[in-house]
Amino acid sequence: MRDTNFLAENNAKQIWHPMAHPADMRANPPRVVMEGQGAHVTDLEGRTVLDAVGGLWNVNLGYSCEPVKAAIAAQLDMLPYYSGFRGTSTGPSIELAWELTQWFEPEGMARAFFTSGGSDSVESALRLARQYWKIRRQGDRTKFLALKKGYHGTHFGGASVNGNANFRRNYEPLLPGVYHIPAPYTYRNPFDETDPQKLARLCANALEDEIAFQGADTIAAFIMEPVLGAGGVIVPHESFMPLVRDICDRHEILLIADEVVTGFGRTGAWSGSRLSNVKPDMMTIAKAITSGYFPLGATLISGAVAEVFEADKSSFGSIGHGYTYSGHPVGCAAGVAALAETRRLKVNENAAARGLELATALEDLKAKHDLVGDVRYKGLMAALELVSDRSTKKPADKGVMKRVSDAAYEAGVMLRVSGSNIILSPPLILTAEEVQTIGEALDAGLATV
Ligand code: PMP
Repeated sequence: MRDTNFLAENNAKQIWHPMAHPADMRANPPRVVMEGQGAHVTDLEGRTVLDAVGGLWNVNLGYSCEPVKAAIAAQLDMLPYYSGFRGTSTGPSIELAWELTQWFEPEGMARAFFTSGGSDSVESALRLARQYWKIRRQGDRTKFLALKKGYHGTHFGGASVNGNANFRRNYEPLLPGVYHIPAPYTYRNPFDETDPQKLARLCANALEDEIAFQGADTIAAFIMEPVLGAGGVIVPHESFMPLVRDICDRHEILLIADEVVTGFGRTGAWSGSRLSNVKPDMMTIAKAITSGYFPLGATLISGAVAEVFEADKSSFGSIGHGYTYSGHPVGCAAGVAALAETRRLKVNENAAARGLELATALEDLKAKHDLVGDVRYKGLMAALELVSDRSTKKPADKGVMKRVSDAAYEAGVMLRVSGSNIILSPPLILTAEEVQTIGEALDAGLATV
């Protein structure tokens, strides 16, 4: 690699960074992350900090997981690539599909369709949902329902079901026939309801109402994150997903659980659906499937949905969809190794235990700093929503968010800012001491404002 001067000089000059204005990036070049060890990363200036972002909700096993690195190296040596299109397959993809159907057996998942990441997984789920209804000769069922504040990646399908205006506006017109209902977000919702259980019921009623308005026989699927991530770690009451499951069952609407963030232990359970024992019809996974060491994702399909495809005798059942990297052998080898480590280390249990400590730290910060309007958490995914005025709930501005996160970095912790939320999603191998470090750095950051 070229020297550090070259990197500093060219930082953000030729790259257009995702989710950023190119001019902003040139004016305020991003931190260049050079190395990672455990839950820590080191930047271009040689500064080492605790990564409370966990890469991007994905590096669950931290940065020095030797078995995953070794599996990648060994697979590169043996076979760096072969396609999974009709006619060929590879060993690691067969093995990982088997592992995934075992792993998500309690959710009823029976088949895996491999992708290169979360957006691909969502796109595949939406397309397979449409196809499912064509096979069942109910081709009018084409619409999708989703939650406001939901995040489902940035392909046209995913952006269409996304419930955040800033990911939609510049790319409209999006997919027609997509409708959004209010998310069970207790801090801000159109019902002014602060009781999480009552709010869950109101949002479920809104779903039922929208279905009646559209006509159930025009709707293919409802997609939701069991815990909404990028929208600001919105944690629905545990009754919400079962209510949704019941509504979807009654109207024969497929339920797609987007578990790109919540899969593999982040919430303290092996999936977000398992938090409330819901069996979705499809699940989308990515990110922690390889702990972020290789781009990989999958759409998982329930036994009942799979049967409809597999029993079809017409051309409707053939899957006219897929990616060059569907089932990439290096990615799948990384996945097999990452899942073995994920299970061996019981990272779900650590996420639950450290999550409780983190929750206590966040509640303390809320009690201490007026800037904190709301704190939300489940396992090791958490958000602090900052406000300039607690009574009006006016969101904190960009300048305030930057001051807090810069000061926290100075205090040794990398944070992620999304709108007026500080998002925390550290590696799931986090120690109790590291939880304390995050709390102290947040305290230092909030104190600067
Ligand atoms: N779904 C959810 C719930 C996500 O959080 C994300 C990414 N943060 C995606 C889909 C898209 O995944 P990717 O960025 O890997 O395409």
